[in-house]
Amino acid sequence: MISVAILLGLAFGRIWTHRGGEVEEAPVASGSPMLALVAPRIRMALDGARDGRFVEGSTPAVTDLQPSGTIEPGQTLFSALTERGAAPASAQRALVALSAKFDFRRSRVGHTWEASLQSDGTLVALKYQTSPERYLEASLGADARFSAVDVRVPVERRTQAVAIPIIGSLWESVEAAGLDAQLAQSLAAVFQWDIDFSQQAVVGDALRVVYERHFLDGKPYRLGDVLAAEYLGARGAWVGFRSPEEDGTDYFNAKGESLSKLFLAAPCRYRRISSKFDPNRLHPVLKIRRPHLGVDYAAPTGTPVRAVADGVVGFVGPKGGNGNLVSIKHGYGYESGYAHLSRFARGIKAGQRVEQGQVIGFVGNTGLSTGAHLHFGLKHDGTFVDPLERRDIRRPALKGRQLAAYARRVGALRDLLDKISVTAPAASPTEASDPAPPSAASWDESGDF
Ligand SMILES: [Zn+2]
Repeated sequence: MISVAILLGLAFGRIWTHRGGEVEEAPVASGSPMLALVAPRIRMALDGARDGRFVEGSTPAVTDLQPSGTIEPGQTLFSALTERGAAPASAQRALVALSAKFDFRRSRVGHTWEASLQSDGTLVALKYQTSPERYLEASLGADARFSAVDVRVPVERRTQAVAIPIIGSLWESVEAAGLDAQLAQSLAAVFQWDIDFSQQAVVGDALRVVYERHFLDGKPYRLGDVLAAEYLGARGAWVGFRSPEEDGTDYFNAKGESLSKLFLAAPCRYRRISSKFDPNRLHPVLKIRRPHLGVDYAAPTGTPVRAVADGVVGFVGPKGGNGNLVSIKHGYGYESGYAHLSRFARGIKAGQRVEQGQVIGFVGNTGLSTGAHLHFGLKHDGTFVDPLERRDIRRPALKGRQLAAYARRVGALRDLLDKISVTAPAASPTEASDPAPPSAASWDESGDF
């Protein structure tokens, strides 16, 4: 927080500097974090102006007040300014100028502002900061008009390498290494498909991590992505490298095979699997031999049901014995179905894109059903398959150009990892299990579950 305040001050300082003032930075106020967000007071070198150093044009060079603040609940920038002495007409004109650069409907509590006023309340300059990376400034020109600028503070990305000995939970270990708790979250996400840290992390294991940290004006600002991470454990070793795409969130092993599984382990939290995939089952309601082409998850009515993979909703609505059904078409020839739902998630409709893990409906007992459960079906190339058998297939491996770009990056990242010295169990590295090759089959259009 403190460093943010300093940054605000420095950035603001530059504005005044080009207007001919001189910046004097007061110590940052300690105490409330909200206070710390408010930029330190900046005093204009008024004496300089009076000496006649700023004589060009009619730009008001003398400012009497520099109020600043943070937008509070129920407050607008206009009300904040006028409460602190700005003349309403002047504030209005400054805001009109700024609104060419910023939609004030997106104004939020916590945004900060700084103004420079003449003794009669005329605004000379106004700065509105929406994030440490962005601010807007309106300034009154020689022509008595406000001009506005939208400034993006460049973010510098630096690569950092670190060893994290496991001394307890992943979170405790990351903290003990003096790192951000957020890094623990990122690491848990990288290895989410292979390591259950709450069960498997053993004291004595270690992590090597190469990650990005973002800097604003040379000061640490926030954590970036994990670029490479290696877990060296008594039970095995795993390594993951971030996908070569900008803003990619997928991780791959050294060979370019995905660490991510195609499907969630289950579409909902459940008490037990009450019926498995069985092509010869005796139907519990119909009492006839009728295949059970899916998995039944016993769970209370209302339990959220999640899309097992990214996809496009194919069907939403009641469908015979299925009761309320949602079907989703995924890539690689897969389609999933979720039956007997009590209701659908708000806004879920055919043709809509859904993400893996997105709630699409809620467990119920609609249709041909003997109690609250989710019937989950999976088709591959139009044929029902056992979802439990497909649980562990991975997303497709990188290939072609992507793989070539990835291989070049991985070499450098591997070197960085190797330079991180750790004391860890000597386990032979375990590569991710063989991912299934992507299917070339076309979409399956039928949706009967
Ligand atoms: Zn079923």
